[in-house]
Amino acid sequence: MSKVLVIGCGGVASVAIQKCCQASEVFTELCLASRTRSKCDELAAKLKGKTATKITTAQVDADDVNQVIALIRAEKPDLVMNVALPYQDLTLMDACLACGVDYMDAANYEPEDTDDPKWRAIYEKRCREAGFSAYFDYSWQWAYRKRFEDAGIMALLGCGFDPGVTQAYCAYAKKHEFDTIDTIDILDCNGGDHGYAFATNFNPEVNLREVSAPGSYWENGHWVEVPAMSIKREYDFDQVGKKDMYLLHHEEIESLAQTIPEARRIRFFMTFGQSYLDHMRCLEDVGMLSTTPVEFEGHQIVPIKFLKTLLPDPASLGPRTKGKTNIGCIFTGKKAGRDKKWAIYNVCDHQACYREVGSQAISYTTGVPVMCGALMVLTDKWRRPGVFTVDELDPDPFLDALDKYGLPRSIESDPVLVP
Ligand code: NDP
Repeated sequence: MSKVLVIGCGGVASVAIQKCCQASEVFTELCLASRTRSKCDELAAKLKGKTATKITTAQVDADDVNQVIALIRAEKPDLVMNVALPYQDLTLMDACLACGVDYMDAANYEPEDTDDPKWRAIYEKRCREAGFSAYFDYSWQWAYRKRFEDAGIMALLGCGFDPGVTQAYCAYAKKHEFDTIDTIDILDCNGGDHGYAFATNFNPEVNLREVSAPGSYWENGHWVEVPAMSIKREYDFDQVGKKDMYLLHHEEIESLAQTIPEARRIRFFMTFGQSYLDHMRCLEDVGMLSTTPVEFEGHQIVPIKFLKTLLPDPASLGPRTKGKTNIGCIFTGKKAGRDKKWAIYNVCDHQACYREVGSQAISYTTGVPVMCGALMVLTDKWRRPGVFTVDELDPDPFLDALDKYGLPRSIESDPVLVP
């Protein structure tokens, strides 16, 4: 018997909410709150009569901590599920602290305005000291650890697929398959085709910022940073086939370097088609990926926000996207004194997701782990005071829940390694 306050009602939220409604014995009540309330009302209307979960809706600006506090006090949820944007992570954590309520999200904090001088000074110091220059990192949210512990509440960070399930895969490998892990390669392959020359599979602003940033990986105890898209490999993915993939910076590398400290190298690769890369490079070259406002005919506009209004809404890609995703991890290391390699991954079919929840597989592979993570917290399998990433928690019940709710694992005991 639990009530969850869901913040945000976009692509990922829509899947997470529908999946919560499939487990209405735990998720007895949901309050859907977002900036645009009509989206919450539409989803609530779609689910009416199809679930035992009681659904209400509200309007909230999650950038305004006082509005969120007022909403939490009115709704009295057991958990705040942040499936809005990473920009809102800190205000929502502040509101949860003020109200003594557990918190979770799907991506780590980054600021909306990367030109803010106060944020930039801290960011530039971190770039120099840590050695990677992505806008997002865990330091902001890890700084809440003591306050969450003292308040006796939990924050579960980045519980989507990657980060999220990929960290559970690593925790599982460490718990069951290896005595020591030497290398980890996380591979995110989207073999889906939506028929557009250019579109992003989730929030365009967050997505384009991520892939246009320099790549980096963890090796021998420090970060190695390389120019964006400069390390390319080809890999033959189960049920998808051969795809080009590129090394990216990704948030789970940062937490895994701490939870699996013996790992000599941790890398993250994502597949991209040539058309996507060509469009992205042109847009970047002409300044359309910039977050700095420019004056246009008397108005201030942020180029990347304007671009977002031109691009297809990721939520609209569902009916058009055909093909499969294959996301997982390949490990090398030692077990009982012998060299070992091993891989674990999930294959997800875009059209099957669309038939089930009306979304493509990127929203699905994120929304299902969000729901399963909430399930772990609400059923006390993971719940403890403090701030945690998924690799710090028991992977077994979470992977069992993923198997049950639509993202079953596949195992490969002799995987092809990435050069
Ligand atoms: P969308 O852009 O589709 O949805 C975002 C939602 O948040 C919208 O409903 C939006 O409202 C709402 N929102 C934005 N700002 C505010 C605000 N200030 N107050 C209240 N609501 C707000 O994003 P996605 O669903 O694609 O992504 C959701 C999250 O999941 C993001 O953090 C993303 O980074 C993360 N993600 C994580 C992945 C993983 O594997 N870990 C993979 C993919 C995404 P409105 O409708 O008014 O715009």
